Amino acid sequence: MEQARPDWDATYTAYTPAQWDIGRPQPAFVRLADEGRLTGRVLDAGCGTGENALLAASRGADVTGIDVAPTAIARARAKACDRGLTVRFEVADALDLGCLGLTVDTVIDSGAFHVFGDDDRARYVASLAAVLRSAGVCYLLCFSDRRSWGPRRVSADDLRAAFSDGWAVESITACTFEINPVDGTTRVQAWLATIRRY
Ligand code: SAH
Repeated sequence: MEQARPDWDATYTAYTPAQWDIGRPQPAFVRLADEGRLTGRVLDAGCGTGENALLAASRGADVTGIDVAPTAIARARAKACDRGLTVRFEVADALDLGCLGLTVDTVIDSGAFHVFGDDDRARYVASLAAVLRSAGVCYLLCFSDRRSWGPRRVSADDLRAAFSDGWAVESITACTFEINPVDGTTRVQAWLATIRRY
């Protein structure tokens, strides 16, 4: 049976900001940008209000950001305009990226993989494969099984299993995902995976 999908737009129209919508890029992606790894044609899958996509654009990448939530995309576009940055922000389904007619060198996934249930997870990985060029890299930041807070526990083995066919998981590093404070907590244990497409 298909699992019901959350109303993502409602998480952006709620009175309080979504817990992940921190108004700045995730430090893990700032480090990657500093290392010069967010380059070429970049897709931010499930970009939310666009901070990581805007970070990559500010470092010279040619960036597309997609999200299923129109409110998030409207905010991302407004930020790009305010900051004088060019990013294509579009409402689109991360489970059907092939229909974008896009090929990219690099994918940013900041908290998207971990929202999908088991069926959608396989679809998502296939969808990424449809847009990422051969030898392109996906940088994936997800909540890990080492944490106590949050919706989904993803283990390193889950990541390896999801990307077992047609991908090389080059590294899975323990790091943190910053959030708006929940009971005084501002960081969640996370994995940063570097995954190369064959
Ligand atoms: N990357 C952003 C948002 C992470 S939260 C950040 O780091 O702030 C997960 C995001 O995935 C939400 O913005 C949600 O709207 C989006 N999302 C969930 N399912 C999606 C789908 N099928 N297609 C595109 N975006 C999706």
